[in-house]
This record gives sequence, C-alpha cells and structure tokens, in this order.
Amino acid sequence: GAAAGKTSVNFPRYARVNILQSSINDMVKMLQESFAKTKSEKPFDKAGSIFVDAHVPDLLVLHPSASSFLHQNDEAVKSGNIVLQDKSSCFSALVLARGNSTAPVNCDFIDACAAPGNKTTHLAALVSSLYNDLPKSKKKKNGKKTKPNSTIFAFERSSTRHKILKSRADTLVPTSQKVAVEPILGDFLKSNPKDPQFANVRGILLDPSCSGSGIVNSPDRCRDGRNTKEDKAKRIQSLSNFQLVALKHAMSFPLVDRIVYSTCSVHDEENEVVVGKALSEINETMTDSDEDHWQLVSPACLRHWPRRGKAGGAGGLSETQASCLIRTDGLDGDETNGFFVSYFERKRVVNTEDL
Ligand code: SAM
Repeated sequence: GAAAGKTSVNFPRYARVNILQSSINDMVKMLQESFAKTKSEKPFDKAGSIFVDAHVPDLLVLHPSASSFLHQNDEAVKSGNIVLQDKSSCFSALVLARGNSTAPVNCDFIDACAAPGNKTTHLAALVSSLYNDLPKSKKKKNGKKTKPNSTIFAFERSSTRHKILKSRADTLVPTSQKVAVEPILGDFLKSNPKDPQFANVRGILLDPSCSGSGIVNSPDRCRDGRNTKEDKAKRIQSLSNFQLVALKHAMSFPLVDRIVYSTCSVHDEENEVVVGKALSEINETMTDSDEDHWQLVSPACLRHWPRRGKAGGAGGLSETQASCLIRTDGLDGDETNGFFVSYFERKRVVNTEDL
C-alpha cells in the first residue's frame, strides 16, 4: 500500500484502565495532572486531551507525547491501575465478553496461549464488569465464599513466560468472589476437553504464537530482506499449521459455545486460511448431532469497525463470513498495530442450559 515504505508511525498512547481496581474517571484525573506537570511542546489543550476509545470502553487514548511520563516505570502502571496495551490487542477479550448480546456470566473461560497475560487480565476485568451490570434479580448468590463465579484457566507452555503471567495476574486481578485467573503451566494442545476441571468452560480465547507481522516496526514487517523468502514462507506455514490445530482443539471442547481466535499477523495464511480450514474440517466431523456446528458471527461490540476480513482465496470464505472478521492495519490509518480477530459461536439443537 501507500504506506509500505514507512518504518515508523506515531500512534496515540493507549492506556487500558484496570477497572478491577480503578475507574476511568480517577485515571483521567490522574493523567490530566501528569500532563499538566510536563512541559509539552504542543499546546496543552491539544496534547493534554484524553479520550475514552470509541470501541474499547475501558481504554483511554492520549497524545503520543504522553509516553514521556506514561511508561512501564510509571507508578500507575506498576501498581496495576493502568495497563499499557495497544488498542487492537484489546479487541480479543472485548469480543469474547461483549461479542454477543447474551452476557457470558457464571461460567469459566480458557485463555489457551496466555502469557504475558494482557488479554487474560482484560477478560477478567470485562467479565467482572458484566456481573456488576447484571440486574439484582439475575445475580447468582455464590454459596461457597471461596469459589469465584468465573475462573479463567490460563495456559502457558513456557515456564519463564508462565512466571510472568502469574505475577501479572497477581498484580492486576485482585482476589474477589467474581473472577479468578488460574495460570496453568502446560501445553494447551495436550489439555483434555473432557477434563471435569473444564466442565463449566463456555468460552475460549485463542491468541497463539504468530509471525507478529502486524506489529508496526517489527522485523517481519519492516526488515523483510533479513530472511530469504523461502525461510519466511516456511515459518508462516508452520505457524499456520499450529494455529489450525489449536483452533480445532478449542472447538472440540464439548460445552464451549464461543471462541475468539486472534493474531497480530497481517498474513492471510495465519488468519482467513486458518479460520476457513477450521470451519470446514471441524464441521465435517461434528457428526453426533446433525445440526450442531460452528459459525462465524459478527461481534456486536465492533459493529461499526470498518476494516473486515478477506473473502475467497485460500481461506475460501464467503463475503458474509469475511464481513464477520475484524482486521486492523497500522500502516493504513487505523492508529493501532495490525491485528486479526475472528469470533465463532456454536449453534446448537439443544440448549446448553438443558445439558
Ligand atoms: N495473549 C497474550 C497477551 O495478550 O498477553 C499473548 C500471547 S503470545 C501471542 C502466545 C503465547 O502462547 C506465548 O507466550 C507462547 O509461549 C504461548 N504458547 C504457544 N504455544 C502454546 C501451547 N501449545 N500451549 C500453551 N501456550 C502456548
């Protein structure tokens, strides 16, 4: 595209408010005070404006110059009131929690590839806010005080990254009765979909290892010359194979009825192709009940997001299916890194509630 030669893009500074321990209003106030203390070259009224993101309700949008005081060492970040998370990477948990008009409450979730845990902890915050939004009559009384209403089982197979995940979850998700994160050191592909531990899991977030080609300034995107074309194609093919196996494994959990599959890749092989193959292969094998099947659904919370998936090609998706998919492109004006989000629901003959 027109921006292909660009090597750096000045995105806004995004700050996700950890609504489990702070509020949008308190953080806006705190950030405005920090802005006032900096000597910005830009006129204060412009640089100091803080917006709530148009798509992600717990995300603040600041002028890029805010990076001078809002960074990993800032007190608000260290204490876990703010998470420095790019906009598009907030879409995954948002879609799992708010993609459908039926709120997924009183059930468990799996984050299949979780470290460092940005999306896990975001999901925890959104699920917890779903409880707060419920009318009193719908709030389930939790008899056993020690058991949360929702547990997020967070798989991570690398032990170093599992440690990071655990400490991030400890900082960002205070112990409450509503939502708990349970980090699991292990390979999601080896998990047993019929394990009684997962009997109440209804949603899976799958954000597997990918090429990272959507990250603006990443080696893959901006230094394409580093590896030979063949090396790169091989790597993408092997990532794509793994992603497909992982997505099909997620779809095989018998009581799961919603899945988000996302990548920070812009390659069709890791996105539409994985989605198209998973749908055709898994639906073919769902023989036990004729009408149960997985399908793509357009996430309600991103109804107005303009950039959508690609139809045809090796993924073989129809126009309608492709229009359910969300894409972002940091080099084409989206002001966030390149990302891909797909949202699946299982359509059932029998309601899960009756099982
Ligand atoms: N969702 C994370 C976040 O937002 O912070 C980022 C996840 S990163 C793209 C993928 C992670 O999955 C890596 O930490 C990797 O070690 C882990 N991983 C890869 N294959 C896995 C598997 N089979 N089971 C569990 N974790 C896996």
